[in-house]
Amino acid sequence: MSALPPNATIGIVGGGQLGRMSALAAARLGYRCHILTPERDAPASQVSAGTTLSHYEDEEALRDFAGRVDVITFEFENVSAEGLDLLASLRPVRPSPTVLRISQDRVAEKSFLNATGVATAPWLPVTTPAELDAAIRTLGFPAILKTTRLGYDGKGQAMLRGPDDLAEAFENLSPKPLILEGFVDFGCEISVIVARGLDGGMAAFDTVENRHRDHILDLTLAPARIPTETAATAEAMARKVADGLGLVGLLALEMFVTADGRVVANEIAPRPHNSGHWTIDACPASQFEMHIRAVAGLPLPEASRHSDAVMKNLVGPEETALWPDILATPGLVPHLYGKAEARPGRKMGHVTRLFPRGGLPGPFGIADALGETLGAALAPSST
Ligand code: AMP
Repeated sequence: MSALPPNATIGIVGGGQLGRMSALAAARLGYRCHILTPERDAPASQVSAGTTLSHYEDEEALRDFAGRVDVITFEFENVSAEGLDLLASLRPVRPSPTVLRISQDRVAEKSFLNATGVATAPWLPVTTPAELDAAIRTLGFPAILKTTRLGYDGKGQAMLRGPDDLAEAFENLSPKPLILEGFVDFGCEISVIVARGLDGGMAAFDTVENRHRDHILDLTLAPARIPTETAATAEAMARKVADGLGLVGLLALEMFVTADGRVVANEIAPRPHNSGHWTIDACPASQFEMHIRAVAGLPLPEASRHSDAVMKNLVGPEETALWPDILATPGLVPHLYGKAEARPGRKMGHVTRLFPRGGLPGPFGIADALGETLGAALAPSST
């Protein structure tokens, strides 16, 4: 299969910021993008050649969308796999609906990871209170009960600290299929983003460290401040996952580094990822360019970085209100996604600060690094 020629159109299912930044990268490579989204004036639509305004299950709209594009990708996992099957019968869809299905279901995901030889937290599927009792006897406390599907940013999960927590957690999360995971006592959370091309060639960005606030990504530090061997282990795991999936496209593997230095996989996101936004400013080819290149059948350059970086998400009204200060602070690279309303918990944009390679500040320098005026307001979470 040959590379997509310049001026061809890439269809993106989903209209959020990941689609927006993918479309901007596609434009630089001479492609047009056409977005499928139910949302009017979506962030991705604002920077794309066209939009099909529709839900993801509307067969007529899906056929119309496919007719307007040469190849199709998606920018978030909560799209309909059946809709993607229909699209795949009409145009190449990269990554494939099979990859989407695995990432949409925590049981399928963890089964795949374990079968591929990638360690995860111990886990058991749960559909009834009796199964939960049996699972907790096997895995012990503490443990985390999660819905198998449609969870994000900490939604659809409950921490189980002791027997008193079981009934309420089950009540809140059922009747959806659930999974019980053993609690991982992690020292830090990391991720690796890897692209895999049509020819099976891969490019992996350096392992990064992620810090969350209220279950939402707050900061990414590139590179992760972990031993070189641990970072290499994480990268090897991500490559193994991309290869095992036969991925054509890009994925993020989210992982934990345990207190005793082991790397444990948590989640696969088969799309550009928030923990890769730093690559726009710190790498010759960003995660979004890699995504578009892989989807378009272009060669993949090395995923090298010319700088170290800290990426800070701008979430909700308070952080978005800092925009004028951010613009006035030298050294901050600002990104805004074009969302009309800054609702609490909504990712509105991000800011990147670059450092010379090897110059990432120590654990206490990050708030300062984000700029003196913003130091207090943007002070990172401690977790
Ligand atoms: P998830 O929805 O699986 O990405 O989980 C959201 C967050 O919950 C993760 O980023 C972790 O901080 C935490 N978490 C999830 N699963 C576990 C686990 N098995 N052990 C410890 N913490 C977890």
